[in-house]
Amino acid sequence: MTAGVRARNESAWLLPNDGTRTNHRLRRDMRRFADDDEVDLVIVGCGAGGSVLAQRLARAGWRVVALDAGPFWDPDTDWVSDEAGSHHLYWTDPRVIAGADPVPLGSNNSGRGVGGSMVHYAGYTPRFHPSDFSTLRDDGVGADWPFGYEELRPYYAAIEQELPVAGEHWPWGDPHGYPHRPHPVGGNGELFLRGAGKLGIEARVGPVAIANGRFGNRPHCIYRGFCLQGCKVNAKASPLITHIPDALAHGAEVRADAMVTRVGMDERTGRASGVHYVRDGASRFQRAAMVAIAGYSIETPRLLLNSASPRYPDGLCNEFDQVGRYLMVQGAPQSAGRFDAEVRMYKAPPPEVSSEEFYETDPAKDYKRGFAVQTVSPLPITWAEHVAAQGHWGRALRDYMSDYVHWACLGSLCEFLPLAGNRVTLADETDCYGLPVARFAYSQCDNDRALLAAAQHVMEDILTAAGADEVITIKRYAHLVGGARMAKDARHGVVDGRCRTFAVPNLYITDGSVLPTQGSANPALTIMAVTARAADHLISGARGGTG
Ligand SMILES: Cc1cc2nc3c(=O)[nH]c(=O)nc-3n(C[C@H](O)[C@H](O)[C@H](O)COP(=O)(O)OP(=O)(O)OC[C@H]3O[C@@H](n4cnc5c(N)ncnc54)[C@H](O)[C@@H]3O)c2cc1C
Ligand code: SF4
Repeated sequence: MTAGVRARNESAWLLPNDGTRTNHRLRRDMRRFADDDEVDLVIVGCGAGGSVLAQRLARAGWRVVALDAGPFWDPDTDWVSDEAGSHHLYWTDPRVIAGADPVPLGSNNSGRGVGGSMVHYAGYTPRFHPSDFSTLRDDGVGADWPFGYEELRPYYAAIEQELPVAGEHWPWGDPHGYPHRPHPVGGNGELFLRGAGKLGIEARVGPVAIANGRFGNRPHCIYRGFCLQGCKVNAKASPLITHIPDALAHGAEVRADAMVTRVGMDERTGRASGVHYVRDGASRFQRAAMVAIAGYSIETPRLLLNSASPRYPDGLCNEFDQVGRYLMVQGAPQSAGRFDAEVRMYKAPPPEVSSEEFYETDPAKDYKRGFAVQTVSPLPITWAEHVAAQGHWGRALRDYMSDYVHWACLGSLCEFLPLAGNRVTLADETDCYGLPVARFAYSQCDNDRALLAAAQHVMEDILTAAGADEVITIKRYAHLVGGARMAKDARHGVVDGRCRTFAVPNLYITDGSVLPTQGSANPALTIMAVTARAADHLISGARGGTG
């Protein structure tokens, strides 16, 4: 297996083998393009989607520049194993939130810098289920994708090998195995397995993109629990270490600290001509034969709207008022249980054990679709946020904090439905570049609320069955996707099944914005698989957007 992966993505072998975490020579010697070189492809954003696209197309011989608004991280010097000290990883630029159920934006949503949000994601990498691709046809809710699960299966398997993913055999959705064996579990995972077992609920270890054993020059996990702060060890996968080194080795340029402000358009031909960006305080323009946007579900629609011009007065690709719509967030309630024995949930990766028993529509219930349950294991500051969100302050908050080592914590991911009114528009406020910031309005529907209640009951039952003497639950959100969704035509979405925008033949979107539904699965693996599929299409003949 390893030889096959190395033949198509050498990233893990390009990292140093001397105890340091960054191949400085590769970065120093990377190919550099001039702004007025017309490269084959310029990519906006080096996260889950952008990095996979850069790696695939650089390997195919394309001249690629990938711009990211944030830094080119060096895990040795830029990351610390400290919750408070890791805030610089997040995209914390101003944004406006609105709607009946506004979604707080910041640390729990998106990252800034090469590697994108996966630098500080937890590391769960489940596949979507086959049913996620046809929820409208089969359940009468959500949307249908322009293609089915089978089209994505080989890309799931390929990315799972490249990350690589560790876990038990997965019985749900399309049953499959993983390239690395499951990790041993800590106290939180053990309690989840115990409680679920008592209730007859199937739960399994994984799937996590954390090396279980050495992988190339990446060391194995040392179970220190700082996955959401950027793994200094390089055991947890993020594109910074899984796709960018190979992209550089094949001639891609990664231009960090470069904030793209608008897509350049040839008003006469209606084709993209490159991107305007700001770097070191200077406004610049990178010429390109093709543009791909991969800036995350908030920034991608914002960039399209900020790219309005006389030919596109309502924003790029927005002729049918689709940009920014159907933005989804998963309902992510979190239940914590107290145990007499010490749990010490920080002594393991937060992602350990999950159950997809409740993922599919159950005809006996009065709601459609479902939810997944996973271990989450907050570190102390996040634990304080959990307790405070329950309404505990002062002395009570201190008591809960002193008792931290006795608590276990589970989280659910509820499949909230895509609704047209949940969308990004432009606010009146502007950012430091003078650009209107994103305004994100979000409201839940009755189905969403029913799912939240059902997930809460299941988590509390599991913790109680495991022996918890007190259980507290808070409501929260996770994982934004959608906002520039795939559809069969321009009246229903922004891109086609291969991520090409309907409006501009040489403009692609390759990030989480294109997902029409979200299932109850964490999205990063699917974003990478969808991008790898789009890359294959480009490689097979669409250079310059003519395919
Ligand atoms: C705390 C947390 C935990 C998570 N846990 C999981 C998990 O366990 N499993 C999972 O699957 N997912 C998880 N996620 C979600 C996952 O990380 C994201 O869904 C995924 O990374 C999104 O991929 P993307 O390509 O859409 O955007 P990103 O990976 O966020 O990449 C976008 C990049 O674009 C750059 N950018 C944006 N705008 C511009 C611009 N105008 N110019 C230049 N650059 C720009 C940003 O700096 C960023 O680097 C988690 C996320 C968070 C925040
Ligand atoms: S628990 Fe493992 S994957 Fe997570 S930060 Fe520590 S070494 Fe990295």
